[in-house]
Amino acid sequence: MNDFVLGSGPAAIACAQALVARGRRVTILDAGEKLEPARQEVLDRVAALPSGKWDASDLAVLRGEQEKGHGNIHQKLLYGSDYPYRDDEDSMQSGRAESPFHYSLAQGGLSSVWGASLLPVSPDDIRDWPFPYEDLVPHYRAIFDWLPTAAGEPDGLAGILPSYSQKPEPLRFSRQIEGLVQDLKKGCPDDIRFGRSRQAVFTGGRNGGPGCVYCGRCLYGCPYGLIYSTAHTLEDMRKSERVDYRDRQRVERLEQSGDKVRIHTTDLRTGESACFEAGRVFVGTGILPTAWLVLRSRDAIGRKVVMKDSQYFIYPFLRAPLTRGVQDEPLHTLSQLYMEIRDPKISKHLVHLEIFSYSDYLKRALMQTPLRFVLSNPWAAEQFFGRVLIMQGFLHSEDSRTFSVELQAGGRPKLHLEANKRGPGWSQAVKVGFKLLSQAHRLRGAPILPALQFADPGRSYHSGGGFPMRKNPSEWETDPLGRLPGWDRIHLVDASTFPSIPATTMVLNIMANAHRIGTAAADL
Ligand SMILES: Cc1cc2nc3c(=O)[nH]c(=O)nc-3n(C[C@H](O)[C@H](O)[C@H](O)COP(=O)(O)OP(=O)(O)OC[C@H]3O[C@@H](n4cnc5c(N)ncnc54)[C@H](O)[C@@H]3O)c2cc1C
Ligand code: SF4
Repeated sequence: MNDFVLGSGPAAIACAQALVARGRRVTILDAGEKLEPARQEVLDRVAALPSGKWDASDLAVLRGEQEKGHGNIHQKLLYGSDYPYRDDEDSMQSGRAESPFHYSLAQGGLSSVWGASLLPVSPDDIRDWPFPYEDLVPHYRAIFDWLPTAAGEPDGLAGILPSYSQKPEPLRFSRQIEGLVQDLKKGCPDDIRFGRSRQAVFTGGRNGGPGCVYCGRCLYGCPYGLIYSTAHTLEDMRKSERVDYRDRQRVERLEQSGDKVRIHTTDLRTGESACFEAGRVFVGTGILPTAWLVLRSRDAIGRKVVMKDSQYFIYPFLRAPLTRGVQDEPLHTLSQLYMEIRDPKISKHLVHLEIFSYSDYLKRALMQTPLRFVLSNPWAAEQFFGRVLIMQGFLHSEDSRTFSVELQAGGRPKLHLEANKRGPGWSQAVKVGFKLLSQAHRLRGAPILPALQFADPGRSYHSGGGFPMRKNPSEWETDPLGRLPGWDRIHLVDASTFPSIPATTMVLNIMANAHRIGTAAADL
């Protein structure tokens, strides 16, 4: 009987790759929403041209309208579309509009719209996991067989967060960041390390297409598809006769009896129900759909599941040196530089900072605030944008608030999400601000402390841990292969099983863990 993998995001695809590498046949069932055909047509037109020939009205379509999401932070779209977060008519969540976390039913999951930042965990940040860091290492290496990386020097992080990438191709720094790096090279305290961002980007091109042209559109979606999504790997996997991909299948319920698992689905095209039989099932549907599926399959109405979060915050950072002409500079607009802070006065874990320089996305967001009255003056805009950077910070889940989800009764039971407004996080974010301020002479700049934006738990999308892995799991916990008691053939392979959430990004660690589970389960 085939192994079944549910989803096509980072967890599912890394697990499926591990199974196929061990000679297994895999059926992938996926909700598999895609970009609307009209936008796809525009994208195809743009992708076929050199960047100098792009039509302004096509680019406007692919940029879309920037809308405030939860709180003051904008929701990142892809090619102007919100399809990565789009729900089907019969949502599995109540109050979704107010939710800080929007699950994905898209092909590639949230990796279709992510920021492409890739870091492993630090061993000290996963001491509560039921296996040692060394167990993840071969899987980091295996993943880089197909995962591209833009990385390179300077890489002051290598000593604490190795880059397992086999053939990194760096993206060029913007001039603003080049200036900051030169200042940091003159001296940086031991408890702040910095390095070039590591990004899942096909810098030199994909499938013989053009490489990065520094068009600055990364945050709207790369016209040449250079920002990695697991949909790319899925496309390659579908060529293998070992892989059967069925899209528009929404998984409704799982039942294990004996050595078989029944998977109940709804076809999202026709509304028809179906049932598949599997020898083993790997659930990589993302933390909220996975919680819904587990609770619903176990009829656990009223059961609350607590999710951990790596909470996130933003500081604008003003530098004294002015870089002229940034609004016209050819640059990329993903994170350019990482800083890792290990300061016991802030946290016993790493705090991860991503630094962005000028982008059209930033300008448009600011033009929706009262700052627009100043920035509409070209001289003021030149002075401001030539000095401002954006620092996006992440905290370990031990220093962050939680949110809970509960399955509520109804025709089709729904998850209700509630963010915990109390707990740690804010004071750590403020301490990070003061720490950077204390280094103002070296950084030749400082964060604007009163402009701190501190996001609700869940808003970082770096969340999980509803069914944490333990050596000896209790009823709602999983074993080190992601299995709940009584379900020895159903493995949860996404971040639902992370006992804690390190600050150092999600996807690489989700993939390594899912690949570890797939590799081990193939031999059971
Ligand atoms: C704007 C943004 C930026 C981010 N930036 C970064 C970053 O820079 N670095 C980083 O590490 N992480 C980042 N993340 C987080 C990262 O994208 C997620 O942690 C990651 O995608 C989760 O992977 P997953 O496979 O568990 O779930 P998902 O990516 O959510 O994939 C879920 C899959 O399951 C399918 N599915 C869901 N429900 C069902 C169902 N009932 N039946 C069948 N199929 C189903 C979906 O179609 C999808 O294919 C970012 C997220 C966002 C939103
Ligand atoms: S700058 Fe960004 S959007 Fe433009 S080609 Fe490079 S990766 Fe793609």
